[in-house]
Amino acid sequence: MSKKRRAAATAPAASAPEPTPDGAAELPGTREGVIVEGSRGFYRVETPEGALVCTIRGRLRKQLQYALSDATAARRSAVGVRVRTHDPVSVGDRVRVLPTVPGEGVIEAVVTRAGGDFGRRDPDAGQDRLRAVAGIDQLVTVFAAREPAPHLGLLDRFLVLAENQELDTLICLNKADLGVEPWLAERLAVYRGLGYPVVLTSAAAGLGLDELRGRLAGRTSAFLGPSGVGKSSLLNALQPDLGLRVGAVSASTSKGRHTTRGTHLFPLDGPDGGHIADTAGIRALAVDGAALGRLDWCFREFRPYLDECRFAGCSHLHEPDCAVRAAAATGAIDRARYASYGKLRRGEGE
Ligand code: GDP
Ligand code: ZN
Repeated sequence: MSKKRRAAATAPAASAPEPTPDGAAELPGTREGVIVEGSRGFYRVETPEGALVCTIRGRLRKQLQYALSDATAARRSAVGVRVRTHDPVSVGDRVRVLPTVPGEGVIEAVVTRAGGDFGRRDPDAGQDRLRAVAGIDQLVTVFAAREPAPHLGLLDRFLVLAENQELDTLICLNKADLGVEPWLAERLAVYRGLGYPVVLTSAAAGLGLDELRGRLAGRTSAFLGPSGVGKSSLLNALQPDLGLRVGAVSASTSKGRHTTRGTHLFPLDGPDGGHIADTAGIRALAVDGAALGRLDWCFREFRPYLDECRFAGCSHLHEPDCAVRAAAATGAIDRARYASYGKLRRGEGE
């Protein structure tokens, strides 16, 4: 859109301010909140003064455009390069709302976009992307130290999903009270070395919960992990009944009564304690085959080598002069991680 049209659409400035962070802070009578739920034009916005059911200002619907190609700009403000035809806000967005009657309001501006608007930053243009759950910016993968024994091939698969969506990942090793065996401690050190933070917790003994809480603050996180590792116990340990509530919503969404648009976010106590998303959208992620197109890139430690292979489109499995394979042979790339890559690349799954 041209500058001129944009200016025309937003005038007069006093009654129709630009939806930028600076402008948004000035909007008289409004308060800031986070969209925790929404569908078909109605949004539940949680504010420090309580939750409001909100519609969205029609003007905002027309105006809001995002720099889809620029994640940083999209996070901070709405700037125009591409017109959105559907709702310009989604779960996880931080917005300014104008309260109307008690319990209700109107969304006037977007302050920051949620980080997990999946697909926005995908470099593979034209790929048929699954737009999973909006709002999530951190994946918390949960495994148990024992009972059940951690399946690190599955962890690698989760990391691929997260890398593909450019989500940050936290590795949470629960049931630390049962003891962390030396082989596992070694493996965790490898993941730490790759830049994935690892937190040891025990929901049962109350260990590591403050650290976990700190990592959840100010973010919207989804917990993903095999059953029995203690995901709901952890959530309950963080906040009474939270595991129960997240689980109940996840169960109903998985029956198809809601679409991913109906994803719920659960606030954590404390000033900007963060939010926990239910798992409906994350389940949708699991069937996303899009990562296969750039599976090698999703193994973050491969990236420095990808341009060094002799063949473009190298599978890194058998080609001559493959820089990735060479790095795995010397141990510069961890061999177990390379083996995981091979399994996924060959479609061997888990
Ligand atoms: P989920 O399926 O991942 O949600 O796992 P649950 O929260 O239902 O926990 C599965 C089992 O592990 C339950 O019997 C819990 O009591 C137990 N559990 C959860 N966290 C811990 C922990 O930190 N230590 C130990 N020893 N057991 C735990
Ligand atoms: Zn290669």
